[in-house]
Formats: sequence, structure tokens, C-alpha cells
Amino acid sequence: MSEFDYDVLVIGSGPGGYVAAIRAAQLGLKTACAESRATLGGTCLNVGCIPSKALLHASELFEAAAGGTLAKLGVKIDKMSLDLPTMQAQRIDAVTGLTGGIEYLFKKNKIDWLKGRASFTGANTVEVDGKSVTAKNIIIATGSSVTPLPGVEVDNEGGRIVDSTGALELTKVPDHLVVIGGGVIGLELGSVWRRVGAKVTCVEFLDQILPGMDGDVRKEANKIFRKQGIEFKLGTKVTKAVAGKKGVTLTVESAAGGANSESGAETIEADVVLVSIGRRPNTDGLGLDKIGLELNQRGQIETDHDFATKVPGVWAIGDVIPGPMLAHKAEDEGIAVAENIAGLTGIVNHDVIPSVVYTAPEIAGVGLTEEAAKEKGPIKVGKFPMLGNSRAKTNHEPDGFVKVIADAETDKVLGVWIIASVAGTMIAQAAQAMEFGASSEDIAYTCHAHPTHSEAIKEAAMAVTGKPIHI
Ligand code: FAD
Ligand code: NAD
Repeated sequence: MSEFDYDVLVIGSGPGGYVAAIRAAQLGLKTACAESRATLGGTCLNVGCIPSKALLHASELFEAAAGGTLAKLGVKIDKMSLDLPTMQAQRIDAVTGLTGGIEYLFKKNKIDWLKGRASFTGANTVEVDGKSVTAKNIIIATGSSVTPLPGVEVDNEGGRIVDSTGALELTKVPDHLVVIGGGVIGLELGSVWRRVGAKVTCVEFLDQILPGMDGDVRKEANKIFRKQGIEFKLGTKVTKAVAGKKGVTLTVESAAGGANSESGAETIEADVVLVSIGRRPNTDGLGLDKIGLELNQRGQIETDHDFATKVPGVWAIGDVIPGPMLAHKAEDEGIAVAENIAGLTGIVNHDVIPSVVYTAPEIAGVGLTEEAAKEKGPIKVGKFPMLGNSRAKTNHEPDGFVKVIADAETDKVLGVWIIASVAGTMIAQAAQAMEFGASSEDIAYTCHAHPTHSEAIKEAAMAVTGKPIHI
């Protein structure tokens, strides 16, 4: 009989944890997964990627119908209205279907779901719901939660000052939604509620939205969102929010500081305020002190390239470790860590992790920004506007561009950035090309089907050497 209850125990069933558990079980390891939430799937399936996309998809169709885009295509709708309860019900259906799917996959792969919060009592032992469970390997995949903003207390139940979870569940379209933070969540959920009728103001601390993305993309995205009607207050911080029965009064001032600010403090009245200023790793109550595992300055668990922590037998993946907080990054790390535990070689190439903002148009990137690439050495850049792409033009989707950044000497592609209606789908090609070490010439001489939005990637690659055709 084994010395341990399990070969592998995963803490957390988000995209990192559930994928690690399934791969471990596939590799013949006796596996359990502790999850305190009522359903499996973590942030992503329950309150993140999936429900937000359900609302983004529905609200995009609503806007196309209500805003006259469909009428321009000859699809006339005489009477239409928003049925928010149905829109919300399909969001819940999407979540229920997918979280249930993970439960099915756990049963199929004979993974035990240990219901409750797990806390270390030793390097190979955790307590879950009052029971002690041992495992030879323990993977921490506890994910992240919203970063709180001092002076702005989130109360999802009250429905006035909410985080992303509360913003997904609104039962009424707010007249005025103020989004604090012009990052991915603020722009995606801000777009949802704007499309169905809310006035949306976005307060961003920095002087531009979408930090971390390519400079051109940030500027162009800002222009597009403004055109769509989102109002931006850049270089601005919220210092206080007071929620009353009718709404919320926000106090904002220049990011540089009140006393020195030229404009001084100002108030904004909102019906609903969304706090989306980032997320922080979940490590509270995990008992890391019991196993001597310290956090870095950002509250993350550090691992080596194999996802091993400095405590033998304890591994960590996903949002709780450094790197972008993205579901697909967590999933790939889940596969890699399970393979490493099984004695195989599990690798994640952190230089090639695509990121996508699912607004309309979508915004996507992989690899280095132009700014970061320039710092590393000489580069060549090719850019192609979606306006020059026949399919985008035909579909009345003229906004955006593709930018390919290549090493000036070797022509190796270092980064690709896209604003286009289907940028999230297009970016996979760029990621694959980069994973295979492609040059811009490789992409330029790959035959792309016509008419597709993807031809804009080929043209941008051709533009690296100054020879696009359709511009
Ligand atoms: P999580 O998904 O956070 O899962 C961790 C799980 O661990 C949770 O279920 C939690 O209950 C459980 N847990 C924590 N502590 C314990 C404990 N002690 N014991 C037992 N269980 C515990 N990413 C994308 O790539 N694409 C998107 O479109 C996207 N959209 C998003 C939209 C929103 C609104 C949000 C908030 C996030 C979005 N993300 C998206 C980010 C994505 O959800 C995360 O990067 C991803 O879920 C991280 O996976 P994870 O497995 O590390 O952790
Ligand atoms: P974010 O890091 O994307 O954006 C936060 C924004 O808030 C930044 O622009 C930051 O400058 C700003 N900010 C910080 N403090 C502020 C303050 N006091 N006042 C005003 N602005 C302030 O974070 P998020 O939008 O909360 O999303 C959290 C995480 O979830 C992200 O890391 C993201 O990767 C992930 N996510 C991904 C997707 C996706 O992949 N499509 C969707 C949603 C969330």
C-alpha cells in the first residue's frame, strides 16, 4: 500500500487545477482535487472567461440589431427590445453546462473532488473540511481574486459598488456605470453594459488604457472605444466612493496627487461602480507558513521552470505564480506540471502566450511589444490596416490593423499585435508561427485563404520588407 492517500493532490479546480488533475490522472497517477467553490472550473468557468463572453456575445448581437448595423446589411428588425433576464439566463446556462462538464471529466478520469478549503498542515498533508489528506505531490492552483481599492468598498449584494462578479450579475442596465481601471475587465464589462444602454465612464490611473500592450494598439483601442461612446478619464485616480440608495458618489483626482493637481478633486455620480484594478494571488489561509513557503513581493508563489516550489513535492501553477493571469497560461502550466510530476518533460514557453481582449473589435497580441522589442535590438515593423483587407471591408469592420515585429537581422518574428473583429482567432496563427521560430518571410510566403481576415497577417508580414499588395 502507498505511503500516501494520493500521488497528486491539486488545490483549486480552475483551468490550471482541473487540467493538471486530468493530465495527472491520464498519466496513471491517483489524483484528487480540493475545491471550496460549489462548482468546479474556478474563476474562469464560474465568474470569469465564460460568463463574460456569454454577455459579450449577446450584447454584441443586441447592439448590431439596435444600433442599425444589421439594418445596413438589409436585416431590418421593426420591433426589438432588451430581454435582460433571458440574456442573464443564457449566461448562467453556459456556466452550468461547462462546470458540469468538468465534473463529468473528473468522474471519467476517476479524480476525487475533495469539497472544501484546503490548508497545508505539512509538505505532504492538507486538511480539507476537517479531514487530513496526504499526497506525494501537491499542486497549488488557487488562482486569484480582485485587488481591493482602499476607500472603495466592494459590495456585490448591494449592487452599487461591484467587482467583475457583481458586474456580470446586474439585473438592471445602469444609467451610468463608472469603471475603475481601463484594463481587460473594465473594457470588456464596460462594453457589455454600454452596448445595452448604459453611459460608461472609465477612470484609469495611467495615461493610457491596456498597460502591457503595444503602444500603437493602446492608442488605437482608446480611439475606437471613445468612438463607441465610452468616456475616459486617464491619469486619474478614485480616492473615495460613497454608496447611497440612489447611487454612488465618487471622488476622483489627478493621478499625480490631489494637492499638486491642477484640476483638484472632482466628484462623479454613478449608478454602479465596477472596481477592476487588477487581481491578486489567493494564498490566504493556505497554511504556507506551515511548510516554510514564502511569497515574493507581489504576493505570488515562485517556482522554477518545472513549476516546483522550493518545498520538495509542492508545485504551483496559474494565477498564483508570476506571469500573465490568463486561463490558457494556467492550462498549459497544468499539463506541464502533471507531466513533470510523472517524470516526463513538461514545458511552457512563456515568451509565446497570446492575450486577447474580447471587445468589438477584439484586441490581441503575442510576444514583444514594439517598445520592448526596440530595447532588445534593431527591429523591422510591418503594419497593415484592416481597411485594406477585403473581408473586413465587406463585413463593414474597417477598424484596426495587424502589426508584425521582426528582428532586423534574422527576420525572426518577435511580436504580433492585432485589432480586428476576429483578432482572438487570428492570433493563434501568429503564436504558432512564433512557436515554430518563423521569420516574417515565412508568414509572407504562406498561402492564406481568400477572403479571410487572416490575410491581413500575411500582408503585415509582407509589409516588414515594404511589399504589401493591397495598400
Ligand atoms: P482560478 O480559476 O482562479 O481557480 C482557482 C480555484 O481555486 C477557485 O475555484 C477557488 O475557489 C479555488 N481555491 C482557492 N483557494 C482554495 C483552497 N484553499 N482550497 C480549495 N480551493 C481553493 N482569462 C483568459 O485567458 N481569457 C478570458 O477571457 C478571461 N476572462 C476573464 C474574465 C473575468 C471577469 C475574470 C475575473 C478573469 C478572466 N480571465 C480570463 C482570467 C482567468 O479567469 C484566470 O487567469 C484563470 O481562471 C486562472 O486559473 P487558475 O486555475 O490559476 O485559478
Ligand atoms: P488589468 O491589470 O488588466 O487592468 C487594471 C487596470 O487598472 C490597469 O489599467 C491599471 O493601470 C488600472 N488601475 C490600477 N489601479 C488603479 C486605480 N487606483 N485607479 C484607476 N485605475 C487603476 O486588471 P483587470 O482588468 O482587473 O483584470 C485582472 C486580470 O484578469 C488581468 O490580469 C487579466 O489578464 C485577467 N483577465 C483576462 C481577460 C482576457 O483574457 N480577455 C479578461 C478579463 C480578465
